[in-house]
Amino acid sequence: MVPVIALVGRPNVGKSTLFNRLTKTRDALVANFPGLTRDRKYGEAKFDSRHFIVIDTGGITGDEEGLDAEMAGQSMQAIDEADAVLFMLDSRAGLTASDQLLANHLRQISKPVFYVANKIDGVNPDVAMADFYSLGVKKIHPTTATHGKGVRQLLEDVFELF
Ligand code: GDP
Ligand code: MG
Repeated sequence: MVPVIALVGRPNVGKSTLFNRLTKTRDALVANFPGLTRDRKYGEAKFDSRHFIVIDTGGITGDEEGLDAEMAGQSMQAIDEADAVLFMLDSRAGLTASDQLLANHLRQISKPVFYVANKIDGVNPDVAMADFYSLGVKKIHPTTATHGKGVRQLLEDVFELF
């Protein structure tokens, strides 16, 4: 089976940037992978010799009002389909109420969740990471999706599971 990895997080954290980097913008032929719907954006990706499917939950574009509903929809379905979840946070913005909301949900699922502190460029990493560690998680992966920094280390950890 090809592992399915969902990118979740509030708007503007860098999900699509990471998606494009991982897939090099190749769209997955969803029809080849039973169980996936056409409602979300899928891409085929490769890490060393390992193939995987990435889901970009780009549908969350609503304002704060609509965010609950969107998260309960599109992202939750992506999480359902996924074998592992990458929860992306914005190091520049720090921890927000939306992040807390999604973190609370992710604590309750039985799948592996990887916490990603994206946009680590240009911020003090220690300060940014300390903020996110207040979520009570064991490990946070710093990344710069725009340049690919930290992405290999993140994928190495993810692929220890598959
Ligand atoms: P999404 O809404 O979560 O899909 O976020 P996008 O991938 O569309 O990114 C939102 C903005 O953040 C874009 O302007 C990206 O270029 C920028 N961005 C994404 N990743 C990084 C990063 O690692 N560092 C910086 N400085 N900007 C980033
Ligand atoms: Mg997006």
